[in-house]
Amino acid sequence: MQRQLKIPRTERVREDEELSGGDAADDPALRGRWHELTRDGVVSALGSSPEGLSTTEAERRLAVYGANALPQPPGRSLAAIVLGQLKSPLIYLLLAAAAVSLVLAEYDDAGFIFLVLTINTAVGAAQEWRAEANTVALRSAIATLARVLRGGVVRRVDSKLLVPGDVVLLESGDRVPADLRLLDAAEAQADESSLTGESLPVDKAAGDALAPETQLADRLTMLFAGSTLQRGRVRALVVATGSYTELGAIAGALQTPSAPPPLTQRLDRFTRLLGLVSLGLVAAVIALQLGIGASLRDTFFVAIALAVSVIPEGLPVAVTVALSIATRRMARRNVIVRHLPAVEGLGACTVVATDKTGTLTMNQLTATRLWLPGHGFVEVDGVGFDLEGGLHQEGERLSEGADAAVRALARSAALCNAADLDPAGGAEGQSGDTVDLAFLVLAIKAGLDTGTLRKTARRIADLPFSAERKYAASLHDHGDGQMIHVKGASEVILPLCRDTDEGAVLAVGEAMASRGYRVLAVAAQQVDTKTRPAADRILGDGLGGLTLLGLVGFIDPLRPEAKQAVADCHRAGVAVKMITGDHAATALAIARELGIAERPEEVVTGREIAAADAGLDARIAEAQVFARVEPAHKVTIVEALQRAGHLVAMTGDGVNDAPALHRADLGVAMGRDGTDAARDAADLVLTDDNFASVVAGIDEGRAAYANIRKVIYLTISTGAAEAVMFLLALAVGLPLPLTAIQLLWLNLVTNGGQDVALAAEGSEPGLLDLPPRSPREPLFDALMLRQTLLSGGVIGLVSTAAFAWMIAAGWSEFDARNTLLFLMVAFENVHVFNCRSETRSVFRIALAANWPLIGAVVGAQAVHIGAAFTPGLNDLLGLAPLPLSEWLLLIPIAMSVLVVMEFEKLTRRR
Ligand code: ADP
Ligand code: MG
Repeated sequence: MQRQLKIPRTERVREDEELSGGDAADDPALRGRWHELTRDGVVSALGSSPEGLSTTEAERRLAVYGANALPQPPGRSLAAIVLGQLKSPLIYLLLAAAAVSLVLAEYDDAGFIFLVLTINTAVGAAQEWRAEANTVALRSAIATLARVLRGGVVRRVDSKLLVPGDVVLLESGDRVPADLRLLDAAEAQADESSLTGESLPVDKAAGDALAPETQLADRLTMLFAGSTLQRGRVRALVVATGSYTELGAIAGALQTPSAPPPLTQRLDRFTRLLGLVSLGLVAAVIALQLGIGASLRDTFFVAIALAVSVIPEGLPVAVTVALSIATRRMARRNVIVRHLPAVEGLGACTVVATDKTGTLTMNQLTATRLWLPGHGFVEVDGVGFDLEGGLHQEGERLSEGADAAVRALARSAALCNAADLDPAGGAEGQSGDTVDLAFLVLAIKAGLDTGTLRKTARRIADLPFSAERKYAASLHDHGDGQMIHVKGASEVILPLCRDTDEGAVLAVGEAMASRGYRVLAVAAQQVDTKTRPAADRILGDGLGGLTLLGLVGFIDPLRPEAKQAVADCHRAGVAVKMITGDHAATALAIARELGIAERPEEVVTGREIAAADAGLDARIAEAQVFARVEPAHKVTIVEALQRAGHLVAMTGDGVNDAPALHRADLGVAMGRDGTDAARDAADLVLTDDNFASVVAGIDEGRAAYANIRKVIYLTISTGAAEAVMFLLALAVGLPLPLTAIQLLWLNLVTNGGQDVALAAEGSEPGLLDLPPRSPREPLFDALMLRQTLLSGGVIGLVSTAAFAWMIAAGWSEFDARNTLLFLMVAFENVHVFNCRSETRSVFRIALAANWPLIGAVVGAQAVHIGAAFTPGLNDLLGLAPLPLSEWLLLIPIAMSVLVVMEFEKLTRRR
């Protein structure tokens, strides 16, 4: 965006002089013109090298160019939040009331209304501000990592730390972290829809310089920040970062504020409806009052008081707070919520369709069993990516022949490989696909020096692994000739091999798979460069006549929590379906161990889905395991389940999972090993990729929904209570039970804190023992209506009776109102405990489980009693201290609502 934002230019020039290299990243003449340079031209213009920058140089540049990040959309400003508080029918009403009070020269009233407005606005704004800050913090909690070459070594770094001149490596599914000039590309395609609007992926290649007038959309040698690599693999040079990227230039236009979530929208409509109803009620009462000849002035006060009692002014804020508390709780349990309404979504799901690899299993593949043609089985020691482990055959050392065969297999697998493993680098030095990493570990165990091997056998062409193809291939120059190396699913590779008894080898693979091994075949071929360009053969459909080097069986241990988590889902009435690209036998073996499936009939394969027979929907609905599926099938599965009436949550990690994640009612992406593309399409992200977190999400989602209901119930039922009291008093000819000011005060001291405290209620035990609620169930349902009418009725009736008794006993109106106000505060304090559960008895819920609630109740009493003692304020509110004996007497009266509601819960439990 603005060049001025940067480090002062003079300082930079000095540094540049010292370092002499053509540090042209901010040369205005080059901006947006990188495509006009050749590959070497760009590398030298940026003072970089094919090995990337050194770490120190990268740090220096970071200080000069700043972080690779766009200025964050500021979120809503405080002013906007404050103004938002004022946009509510109640506020308009109160403002009107204040204006009328001024006209009637009731300055105390007017002043107090303004005071309440101010406090209400401040409290609401503060709560929303916190909720907003929370969402922003969560959004940035998922860092994007980039693979970058620094000093010739591949490292994973936060993409914010990229600088111009860095060499980055991208694979399919990676978000493009900055503007890049391609150096190498294999089968690369990028999704640039966010930039150019072009919805189809565009081909990319590391070609030569392009003509200056080439449009952004046609710059096939460039990748732009904000797009995603859909396919293939690239090595590329960072040419612009942060706001200097093409995305940065248009970022302002992209910062459209997001619409409020449907849940809040639905609630807004609900409050607006309530507002209209109350206005109608108020109008009717005014007409009545005037009809019986009351003075305009009295009528006005009656009307205002009634309006104040029935409009639930605190509801929207309380719901926002409830949602925001829920997102924070989920984050603590490793579930990041990307869209606020999705908070409670998992709780409602009836099916979870989950990935196997990495979610149910650890994704720490270890090659533990090899099968070599002519040499039989070989066992491999060691666990995970630990490099220690020997090879043996039935406990004996390998024969020379077997050893050579293992090395040949290991060499092919290490060359046809997209991962990096620095044997000295620990976890930091590992990056790439786990299958590929596991192959590298195998190669090291077999005694190969993978680093040197890769340098000497230069890669000429390569076909990266894709889940549709289920294999990978690459062509290498070994000095004494060229070779093709291939690895992939055995039933895909074996038909491409010559001189093998396909049936017999497949049977060996099948036997390994049914014991839970993930089986891959490795093959190779010497190529005769004279007959035909070999690169065409591997990139086209020309593969064939390969030599089978062997089968490799990998063990991917189950996650320790997975079995319990599946059982928890079943208990919660949520079906768990496993989806995998793996072999049916492997999948069933694992599903059995997890308690997901028992019988082979419960497995549907990708082939059956592709055949799309008439009974497919029914098959899908009944199946527990989907094996050998391709990513495109996942959408079919989701849609079939939805047609069967399910609310489907779907987990995914790959770039090809994005459509299914989008299509599912709730997309859940993997935050650690998942691709950026999957995360962008998802509603929720699991930071630990663990299936157990899905269960936590179900639990928290249901708790969030329950809490929102509690908050609504409290607000609506107390409003109803006040309205009942009011209308009853009016009907029997009593004076106004509470003044408008007193009602305002009552709502302020009680609900100001209580509703927020309710939003913090913990999840009730047993939430995971119930089936999911129906997707079509309304928030304000019959149960809530009944409880609202009952509790509102009791409070309204008892308080009116108390007021009538006091008036009849000859109390002054002032004293009667004062005592009634104390009683109402007590009522609302007691009633909030009713709201803690719709079913469970108050006495079964630990008080200590919600300290904010205790605080809110004690606080309300303290503020109210304090106000009664405060000169000035007590006059304004019509308050006076109550003798302790009277105050104590109010408590049992207020308990009446507890008794009645306990009774209601008891009869329902029966
Ligand atoms: P999953 O859904 O369980 O993660 P994938 O779709 O990743 O399965 O893989 C499907 C099949 O493709 C595997 O069973 C394996 O045979 C093959 N495969 C997986 N990864 C690779 C790879 N890196 N190179 C070659 N083949 C692979
Ligand atoms: Mg996979």
